[in-house]
Amino acid sequence: MNSYLVTGAAGFIGSSFVRQLLGRNEKIVVLDALTYSGRRESLAEVEADPNLEFVHGDICDAALVLSLIETHRPKAVINFAAESHVDRSIESAAEFVRTNVAGAHILLQASLDYWRGLSTSDGEAFRFLQVSTDEVYGSVEEGETHEGAPFNPSSPYSASKASADMMTRAYYHTHGLPVLITHGCNTYGPRQFPEKFIPLLILRALSKMSLPIYGRGTNVREWVHVEDHAEGILTTLDQGMPGKAYNLGSRHRVSNLEVVSELCSILRELVPSSAIEDYSDLIEYVEDRPGHDLRYALDSSRANKDLGWRPHIEFQQGLAATIEWYIANSKWWQPITDGQYPLGRIGLLEEA
Ligand code: NAD
Repeated sequence: MNSYLVTGAAGFIGSSFVRQLLGRNEKIVVLDALTYSGRRESLAEVEADPNLEFVHGDICDAALVLSLIETHRPKAVINFAAESHVDRSIESAAEFVRTNVAGAHILLQASLDYWRGLSTSDGEAFRFLQVSTDEVYGSVEEGETHEGAPFNPSSPYSASKASADMMTRAYYHTHGLPVLITHGCNTYGPRQFPEKFIPLLILRALSKMSLPIYGRGTNVREWVHVEDHAEGILTTLDQGMPGKAYNLGSRHRVSNLEVVSELCSILRELVPSSAIEDYSDLIEYVEDRPGHDLRYALDSSRANKDLGWRPHIEFQQGLAATIEWYIANSKWWQPITDGQYPLGRIGLLEEA
């Protein structure tokens, strides 16, 4: 066993993870369906690396998944592949159930079939890591959620992720498959599809468009930089105990309004504009997201103490660097905003 199978690695967090994993000089097979959010460009810097093999395919294709596993004999399967945007799950949940639940199950079953045929030592070393989210715990009005907290998902997205987590746990309890689960908090950084909160605000502000804030902007999210999140997943893969879940949070919890204010003040320095006195004048309060969770807050002490992981990138610096990346990399995002996603609203309920 000398390779890794990483699914969904043409996406935001998976591509960051692959860049880190390639530092080990071991073979990585990426399986990605290149949905609207999957972008080969996100792996452009490392595409020529002889240790990277890209396979364009679907995790729901059981025959393909099994043949990749049998051919490459991975020491770990890491599942990033997902439909990842809450607002899209409000408009239609079918793809979320297909990829996030059925696809995760196909990966688990193929991994189990392969793992059963491994020698004792290879079987002990093998890992299946399911990348999950803090959203499975639902809204946390006060305090923090630890890994034993009950799931209480509110959106079709978080319900699909919770379902996959429960299936992953079941493969551990029933079959003994050595699984790991990570619950990461809201993630930001370069190469995030522009429908997500922070890149949406950056790109709209750079175009002098309004900055839409759902409801009153009081919803609180915990923010981690993508490189820290990817490092947390890698650390969990290396040191996590099979059968356990690990919260990967930053403790940097701020309201959406605070994020926009921070962003506007950074933009004032980075992109002074004669057309706009203050970027915060662009803020516009819009109809709230249906079922919008008020607050997420992770207790990440298990990952801090047992794995020695904690994030290093301070939010204000990470945000400024992210803005600079979007300014310098319009060739990455312009084809998206000129075409399939011109920065509009997704996820309002249709009028009855
Ligand atoms: P993303 O939307 O940027 O990337 C998802 C990737 O999965 C894309 O490359 C897409 O092409 C691929 N994909 C989708 N369906 C597929 C299928 N059926 N077969 C193969 N590939 C498929 O998402 P992301 O933000 O990088 O999130 C990655 C994972 O991390 C997800 O599981 C998500 O739930 C989780 N997560 C995300 C955040 C966040 O803030 N972005 C926070 C916590 C956890």
